[in-house]
Amino acid sequence: MAVASSTTMKKTAMVLRRRTQAPKRYSDTIFGDEDDLDFEDVSCQRCGSGDFGSKLLLCDKCDKGYHIFCLRPILVSIPKGAWFCPSCSNIKKPQLFPLVQTKIVDFFRIRRLLESTERLSQSNIKKRKRASGLAMPKKKRKLLAFNPTEDPQRRLEQMASLATALEASGTEYSNELTYRPGMAPRSANSAALEKGGMQVLPKEDIESLNLCKRMMEEGECPPLMVVFDPVEGFTVQADRYIKDLTIITEYVGDVDYLNNREHDDGDSMMTLLHASNPSKSLVICPDKRGNIARFVNGINNFSPDGKKKQNVKCARYDVNGECRVLLIANRDIRKGEKLYYDYNGYEHEYPTEHFV
Ligand SMILES: [Zn+2]
Ligand SMILES: [Zn+2]
Repeated sequence: MAVASSTTMKKTAMVLRRRTQAPKRYSDTIFGDEDDLDFEDVSCQRCGSGDFGSKLLLCDKCDKGYHIFCLRPILVSIPKGAWFCPSCSNIKKPQLFPLVQTKIVDFFRIRRLLESTERLSQSNIKKRKRASGLAMPKKKRKLLAFNPTEDPQRRLEQMASLATALEASGTEYSNELTYRPGMAPRSANSAALEKGGMQVLPKEDIESLNLCKRMMEEGECPPLMVVFDPVEGFTVQADRYIKDLTIITEYVGDVDYLNNREHDDGDSMMTLLHASNPSKSLVICPDKRGNIARFVNGINNFSPDGKKKQNVKCARYDVNGECRVLLIANRDIRKGEKLYYDYNGYEHEYPTEHFV
């Protein structure tokens, strides 16, 4: 989502009326040639502010304003065509995915039956406990694999909630970065191309990441519930206590060149590679294939309240030479808390300890 750069935003109380009908160039222009246009004081229905006028979107039915970054899900850019606000767009409650084990096993292509995963879950927990029992230097920030909910029935409910959201969004489930014909090839995903270098994921953290992947393949999902909110859309909440530094999920989807997606209305694009040569920059597009990551909300970077809500950090790593994006708990998260990550923040936050 870092595609919508916020660096050039300036403060203004004015907003362009009927912005959605304005030619494309107006949405690209930040307060440039607005003199000859019709103005009106409009403020955002969500945050109440009239600032960031070029990011204030007007509903084509009720004329109320919404910042594209206050919308849930956030919009990356001003839509080209008509746009209707959440109240006017008449979002229907999505069709619930059946809470039937065989259907869920098929949907997620789970390798073994869920009954047998109880044992596996316990052995994983034991293994993890042993590993973390080793005397580690305090300052070493080791990532933890997520801890699945023990109750298999509850895990089924968690997976059904994700299947509901994926089906409602027309997204096929995938837990890996995907490379499709006509998009960027896998060979384009080279961490060495990252401008200024990319932090390398340490070996033990790669093991934790691989453990997360394996658990998901075996029906042990992260302890998360996808919840439909008529105003916010699909959101993700913790379904058990999640410890600081836990890997929540990898951000996955189709990998494409940023150049191919510059005029995309996709609301969940994520930077994968910020290359020195911009034509080599890559984004992850989870609109066709993806996992739970696409339903985790971005916070509003521009309000202190938004910042306080953040409990997940988005970080890019060099994993065996390829760029990967991980969502990681950046503090202890209580059961029932909604997950929020800062979709711009990580651009400026490079821990330098693991730099190549
Ligand atoms: Zn707003
Ligand atoms: Zn409206």
